[in-house]
Amino acid sequence: MVDYVIAQPPQAAVPVAGGGLFPVRRIYCVGRNYAEHAREMGHDPNAEPPFFFAKPADAVVTDGADVPYPPRTENFHHEIELVAAIGAGGKDIAVADAMSHVWGYAVGIDLTRRDLQAWAKKGGKPWEVSKGFDHSAPIGTIVRAEGITTPLKGAIELRVNGETRQSADISDMTWDLPHVIAELSKYFELFPGDLIMTGTPAGVGAVVKGDRLEGSIAGIGTVECRIV
Ligand code: MN
Repeated sequence: MVDYVIAQPPQAAVPVAGGGLFPVRRIYCVGRNYAEHAREMGHDPNAEPPFFFAKPADAVVTDGADVPYPPRTENFHHEIELVAAIGAGGKDIAVADAMSHVWGYAVGIDLTRRDLQAWAKKGGKPWEVSKGFDHSAPIGTIVRAEGITTPLKGAIELRVNGETRQSADISDMTWDLPHVIAELSKYFELFPGDLIMTGTPAGVGAVVKGDRLEGSIAGIGTVECRIV
């Protein structure tokens, strides 16, 4: 028994298809990993490679749960993304070995306080308040990698109240998943329990209280949440 001086915080976790929970250690995110999204945000997709930021593990919202509309924003955006769940850690992982580090996949939404992100970009401030806030990472059920035949290709879509807002293919990524893992592992040693949100395609936009978000990636799964 460890002698913690306060109650140990709960372990963030995501349910796995077929049973069990995947414990979450960290959530890494890729920025500007689809050229059309880089353009819609006012950036030249050829000017610089994708980059990384992070959310805290306890930002996870499990599938179907409500997301409270966050404070300090008037422009709360959805970003549908493929999520890779790391089962074997490592650093300086080779592109050719990268997929062997993936335990499973899920569909996630990188919720963003876009007005605070614009404020951060403009002032050279950190992104945490725009990306790493509470309830900012709804993630659907994780499916085991061995059951997925084409994890690098498949239609990715987000609907708000039944209307399609984002529609693309995960093969449109600037850095595909093996390159994301290889590059990320040059900056951070990866460990089992890490999740990687791999970036969003074009079509991001605002949601309000009462909106129902449904995301899907063909062959991977779905994610759902309601803004309350
Ligand atoms: Mn994102």
